[in-house]
Amino acid sequence: MRIAQDLADAVGNTPLIRLRKASEETGCEILGKAEFLNPGQSVKDRAALYIIRDAIARGTLKPGGTIVEGTAGNTGIGLALVGASMGFRTVIVIPETQSEEKKDMLRLAGAELVQVPAKPYRNPNNFVHYSRRLAEELAKTEPNGAIWANQFDNVANRQAHVETTGPEIWEQTGGKVDGFICAAGSGGTVAGIAMALQPKGVKVGLVDPEGAGLYSFYTTGEISTEGGSIAEGIGQVRITKNLEGFTPDFVTRVPDTEALPIVFDLLREEGLCMGGSTGINIAGAIRMAKEMGPGHTIVTVLCDYGTRYQSKLFNPAFLKEKDLPCPDWLGKGDADLA
Ligand code: PMP
Repeated sequence: MRIAQDLADAVGNTPLIRLRKASEETGCEILGKAEFLNPGQSVKDRAALYIIRDAIARGTLKPGGTIVEGTAGNTGIGLALVGASMGFRTVIVIPETQSEEKKDMLRLAGAELVQVPAKPYRNPNNFVHYSRRLAEELAKTEPNGAIWANQFDNVANRQAHVETTGPEIWEQTGGKVDGFICAAGSGGTVAGIAMALQPKGVKVGLVDPEGAGLYSFYTTGEISTEGGSIAEGIGQVRITKNLEGFTPDFVTRVPDTEALPIVFDLLREEGLCMGGSTGINIAGAIRMAKEMGPGHTIVTVLCDYGTRYQSKLFNPAFLKEKDLPCPDWLGKGDADLA
């Protein structure tokens, strides 16, 4: 194995892990792209790296410059870590509702946090609009300038998956891949992988959590949202620039009551400790596999590491308050072997 020359060089080239239970249930090979093994423990390291490299190449991000972003957390962690390794300052605007673990990790990575109340996208104080205005202000006052990463509408994000994740999946499966499916936050992952793999005959699916608007858009042409989800980082309600031109071959919408048992079983039975969006993705892969029939190979994304959600997804009190399924082993104390 070669030596990575720096943190940026260690992003990507993640393994594909066979998901045993999902594969047995469907008679398909369900494989998870282990994005939680990136240096920032999520799929968003790839987008962060490509956004930073693109801004450097364009000359907008100068040495010692500041990167500003509105993020549910993972993009911010990726930007802060890649930024630290390259000498950039990061300022992150995050909705207050996101997990404390992600906020702590952001602080640890050296990001300066601005927490804002969670507001819908149409509200001018939504975290995305807030971060754009902050970037404009800082660009005027910072000696080395400031850029707005703009993950939702900056297609450097999608390009990371066109050039890296998609080709990696193709190579790792030796081209024996029939389907790919995941949920969308910015849409960079699903649309970028679609650009790489649909031309090779791979069917690409999109799975929404409840409360997102893409399922209704791709099935009826209208954006309408219903219900909600505790999964963080996904649940898009508009066609971002990254999603433009993307046409899914399969669309579905999964409730948390179906996704959470998958996350819990995955931890206890397969040793994989994942966040909520991974449960939505695997539930989507199981549905797509059932639609395609046995014998197919379907890839999905293991988006981020579960310790990032200890206080919510893996907290019995939180789950009970939300009336969500909670396994009886969760929250059990230390062994008493005395
Ligand atoms: N899962 C998690 C945990 C995320 O943080 C994100 C990105 N916000 C996604 C999935 C979705 O990725 P993308 O932005 O590429 O659609």
